[in-house]
Amino acid sequence: MFEKLQAPPPDKILSLISAYAEDTRPNKIDLGVGVYRDETGATPVLETVREAERRLLATQKTKSYFGMGGDPAFCRAIVPLIFGTDAPSDRIRALQTPGGSGALSILMGFAAKLTKRIHIPDPSWGNHAAIAKHSRLEILRYPYFDAATSRVNFPAMKAALEKAEAGDLVLLHGCCHNPTGADLSREEWSELADLLIEKKLLALVDLAYQGFGDGLDEDAWAVRHLASRLPEMLVASSCSKNFGIYRDRTGAAFVLGKTSQEAAVAEAQVMMEARTGYSMPPDHGAAVVRIILEDEALYAAWRAELETMRSRIADLRRGLAESFRRRTNSAAYDFLMESRGMFSLIGVTEEQAKRLRSEFGIYLVDDGRINIAGLKEDQIDTFVEAVVTVKG
Ligand code: PMP
Repeated sequence: MFEKLQAPPPDKILSLISAYAEDTRPNKIDLGVGVYRDETGATPVLETVREAERRLLATQKTKSYFGMGGDPAFCRAIVPLIFGTDAPSDRIRALQTPGGSGALSILMGFAAKLTKRIHIPDPSWGNHAAIAKHSRLEILRYPYFDAATSRVNFPAMKAALEKAEAGDLVLLHGCCHNPTGADLSREEWSELADLLIEKKLLALVDLAYQGFGDGLDEDAWAVRHLASRLPEMLVASSCSKNFGIYRDRTGAAFVLGKTSQEAAVAEAQVMMEARTGYSMPPDHGAAVVRIILEDEALYAAWRAELETMRSRIADLRRGLAESFRRRTNSAAYDFLMESRGMFSLIGVTEEQAKRLRSEFGIYLVDDGRINIAGLKEDQIDTFVEAVVTVKG
């Protein structure tokens, strides 16, 4: 039977990894896959994660099953991290999930029982549409990014969402938009909340980079603002980046209901999605996160490690913008300093991206997305020179 099958198209980002590995040029630069890198190019295990793992190994008494929502203690600990200490916690239910992807998957599966359509920003992380399609949601794109200014086109976004139908699902990036790095301002979030309420739209906020933009609480501002105003909403969060536990597959899905009772029923429905998808989430990463969040000293130390990552990205953004200023004598790349998180679109065509790879050994996604954390300080000028050269 398998002879009938056709191979799916290769994943663009993952195929960059192997192309980069095979490149023998010593000065090659990897700005492809979306993992944080330190100044040496490594994606190390955080010290606080190592300590939590030591404690886990020493104290764990059983590996017996939890329920479909994972470890209740993890779920309790993660709510204030995302929603803050003033959260309407009686209306919020949390489930531990296999990464942010697992959370998106069960939340979209759940939402597909209530609604038929999802609005996804253009552009967005590729898996958003893929998961939505898998959940049999009809995908509509709303304009988000203005390539001419490299900033959010909020009027166009609003105009598109004004036309959405009551009950439609709207996917939003909580912070550090992937792939553009362009986020809404607080005023825009607040206006968006008005629109979501007025049009009776169901927000699904994806928070995958909390702590990589302006800080842990600052990056959750949008989620917390929406939670304080919307009657219902869904949130998918990821611990992959901010705890650096990518392959341990840790995240959370949240439902905010009008009442505690409604939230509980919704949670039970989301659990059914988990049950048929993977039964229950893996424990290790969530246990590590729980240990860190429950221990005051470890929590403070983790925040310091996260701040080191965040400020390295901010420094690189500033360095890049300044280097482009010097080289081009213009403010055309100042957006790099204003955008947030690991990603920005550098504004090259697919052709130019391929040239950067073949002529300069610079690996970036074909749409021009760069992972800024992949740069080392002393590579900034080389990178800028190459970009200016291919853009002509
Ligand atoms: N959302 C966005 C926007 C992402 O970029 C990613 C990771 N690339 C995720 C969700 C999911 O991350 P994970 O499943 O690894 O936690």
